[in-house]
Amino acid sequence: MPRSLSPLPERQGELSLGPRPERIAELESREFDLLVVGGGITGCGIALDAAARGLSIALVEARDFASGTSSRSTKLIHGGLRYLRQREFGLVREASAERRLLQHLAPGLVSSIPFVLPVYSSRWESLTYRAGLTLYDLVAGFRDTTQHRRLSNEDITTHHPGMRRDGLKSAYRYFDAVTDDARLTLQVAKVAASLGAVCVNHAPVTALLRQASRTTGAAVTDSITGRDFRIKARKVVLAGGVWLDDLLALDTPRVAPRLAPTRGIHIVLPGDYLPAGTAFALTAPADGRLVFAIPWHHRTFVGTTDSPYDGDPANPPFNLAEVDYLLDAVNHHFPDAGFVRADVVAVQSGLRPLISRAGRGLEDLSRRHRLIRTPPGVLAVGGGKLTTYRRIAGKTVDAVLRDLTAAGMHFPDAGLDTENVPLNRRIGHEPPARACGVSGLAPTDYLTWAYGAHAPRMTQPTTPGGDPAGRELLPGRPYLESEVSYSVRREMAVNLSDFMSQRLRCLLIDHDHGLACAGRVAAIMGKHLGWDEREQLRQVENYRALATRHSLTPNALPSPPQPNPGSAD
Ligand code: FAD
Repeated sequence: MPRSLSPLPERQGELSLGPRPERIAELESREFDLLVVGGGITGCGIALDAAARGLSIALVEARDFASGTSSRSTKLIHGGLRYLRQREFGLVREASAERRLLQHLAPGLVSSIPFVLPVYSSRWESLTYRAGLTLYDLVAGFRDTTQHRRLSNEDITTHHPGMRRDGLKSAYRYFDAVTDDARLTLQVAKVAASLGAVCVNHAPVTALLRQASRTTGAAVTDSITGRDFRIKARKVVLAGGVWLDDLLALDTPRVAPRLAPTRGIHIVLPGDYLPAGTAFALTAPADGRLVFAIPWHHRTFVGTTDSPYDGDPANPPFNLAEVDYLLDAVNHHFPDAGFVRADVVAVQSGLRPLISRAGRGLEDLSRRHRLIRTPPGVLAVGGGKLTTYRRIAGKTVDAVLRDLTAAGMHFPDAGLDTENVPLNRRIGHEPPARACGVSGLAPTDYLTWAYGAHAPRMTQPTTPGGDPAGRELLPGRPYLESEVSYSVRREMAVNLSDFMSQRLRCLLIDHDHGLACAGRVAAIMGKHLGWDEREQLRQVENYRALATRHSLTPNALPSPPQPNPGSAD
């Protein structure tokens, strides 16, 4: 590294998910080698890997791409410092290698960021952290250019003046990487589509089709039109994240549940207090767990917690004790910050699709993925990490190919390994020096980061002398009206919420969740999608309801259980 990337194959088409009605017609019209169920990072990664190897791929997502856990993570592409405690050395090594590779394949979208880890407890604890960080570098093979180092008093005074000095034993700096999880997932889906995968959102699988004892496809509903249709496929992979047990039940009713989901919340705080460009690994005063505070877009993203959950996977709630726990962690280390509940811009609650293991406590549940093969020949993927999605996809497609070959089918190897397939290549642009993880991204950098080589289209008028493509959507923010049209045409945004939450991330980072521009966005989307005024209003109301579930006041449960200690992400 850095190595050169493969020239993309001639069969690569446009970087676009394409017009949805045409993609649905395609899904109905032929038999696919593989049907992937679930459009999170795992499903999209599998679609990309399989398409790169030359298989014909259909992918359906029940809601929007990345609307499940893949938009609700800590946004780290990391080796996983915490997993060293669980002796998951193999996972840390694999994740560290992916961290390096993804920075190369998706420059700007995945970017390195320094973390400061202050230690206030005993000298012994300080030595333990030092040993852990040395091991972290060692397991990564010392291949990252910047290894950890102990910060001097002068470093701390100069660069982190707000950090609590009272009782500080030492502070270390190490590197991990940060991303925008939903954007990364969308980008993987678009690259998969450019290699021939047919990916459609808002299309839940309602039943699996069976011929003799073999699964041969799925019945699907188009949630936008309400129409049912069928997809024929030689092999089906279930990548349903926390919905995996529901999907497995469609295949084999009455099987024991495999999942043990845990819930993790994050809070979004104003980004102007913590030093720009640095993330912090903070020890929660309540229980000694690590809590990360990461510069993300123009905000500080703080999390996470870890508690068991068995409610509705689509809308996991949060409670005020969890919010206070995270606020305390930040205020304890930055006493002058004095963050209070009223400062919280948004709350994100997500579920880890962990696989249960008899006799294991929450904190011991591995972040490794598991492949499950059902009697009718369906493969299901559970567990895993955003960071290791490419490896999970590779192993899943290996298993798919083994099964299809055993059934007498043969596939010419297209010779493309996703290790060489760029995700965010910028043609004629250097990656922006300041990436998504760093607050204060300039508008041009923002566009390059979000759209790669397509960025210049955002500032060009869509018709000669017409449509003011470059008009701002929200005062003081880098978003442009042209992004709305782009998202509808190329990224399959079909609801206002798709755009505001998975594409712009207004839901999490903007004042009042960006509701100030919701009407305007609905009007632009409406032009493309044929919404009348009533439908536009309905879209805004739906988005307002979603925004409410991410704001502190009405959604929070007042008398909650304490968040469980244990390892998180
Ligand atoms: P999902 O993203 O949930 O995708 C599954 C999809 O399947 C959903 O979109 C769902 O709508 C769809 N689906 C369900 N049923 C159907 C159906 N019937 N038909 C069609 N589609 C269906 N990992 C990291 O590497 N770094 C981190 O910093 C990190 N932080 C995390 C923090 C938290 C709090 C959590 C919860 C997780 C974190 N993770 C992290 C883990 C990572 O986010 C997940 O492992 C990953 O996003 C899981 O992706 P997935 O595609 O398996 O699941």
